[in-house]
Amino acid sequence: MTGTLTIVGLGPGNEAFITPEAQAAIDRASDVVGYIPYVKRIAPRDGLTLHASDNRVEIDRSIHALEMATEGKQVVVVSSGDPGVFAMASAVFEALEDGIRDHPEWASLDIQVVPGITAMLAASAACGAPLGHDFCAINLSDNLKPFALVEHRLRHAARGDFAMGFYNPRSKSRPTQFGQVLDILREELTPDHMIIFARAVSTDEQAINIQRLGDATPDMADMRTVVLVGNSGTHVIEGTVIVNTPRSQMDWVPS
Ligand code: SAH
Repeated sequence: MTGTLTIVGLGPGNEAFITPEAQAAIDRASDVVGYIPYVKRIAPRDGLTLHASDNRVEIDRSIHALEMATEGKQVVVVSSGDPGVFAMASAVFEALEDGIRDHPEWASLDIQVVPGITAMLAASAACGAPLGHDFCAINLSDNLKPFALVEHRLRHAARGDFAMGFYNPRSKSRPTQFGQVLDILREELTPDHMIIFARAVSTDEQAINIQRLGDATPDMADMRTVVLVGNSGTHVIEGTVIVNTPRSQMDWVPS
């Protein structure tokens, strides 16, 4: 049997947010590979082997997946959210590119990426439409880039009046950097600028915390939080809890 490698996104947590295409790939799989909490979301069944591995071994996991697909297995690599957003799709392609000289057979593998609902978009939907105008996504982790590059991008996004989504805002190994991120934003934006802490979106533990930048504190974010920063026009519609970013900025003038 010809092997396949399908890299799927499981969405932000709610099973109803798994796309039919992602579910079909999981149903066909002989082997599922991924980070422990994501593999836990896959129901065990006869004929399916689950390969759960720890965080930060993305390249080893990817090589294992490529090897199993080469052996003829139906391999699914799982990520949360979308597999192309700070997740396994790029890791698999990095491993492929690095290993293709020693494994020329990898070039002809059937590899598909199945999109998923990324945390930022699920969070946006949960509080209204804060990403209704131009926006960008920034991974605040400095595991794979220097913090100076995080700061550079933050300042330029703020000066460009982009709405922003921050992934991996704060972890046990990076307890202080999110405080620096808030300080940088306060240097670039007004205290009234909107910031939303969206935790465990789409799960039973979902919590949406809407704040002014001037009142935001680092402890409002953890690793289960995606942080949304509005643009200069983002506001709560009076009398509601709906956050909206108008689609138009026709009144913008260059400064
Ligand atoms: N590929 C994933 C992102 C992986 S990075 C995606 O597309 O969503 C992991 C980060 O995603 C977390 O630190 C957090 O910032 C965010 N995240 C993932 N699931 C989330 C959820 N249900 N609620 C809030 N943030 C979430």
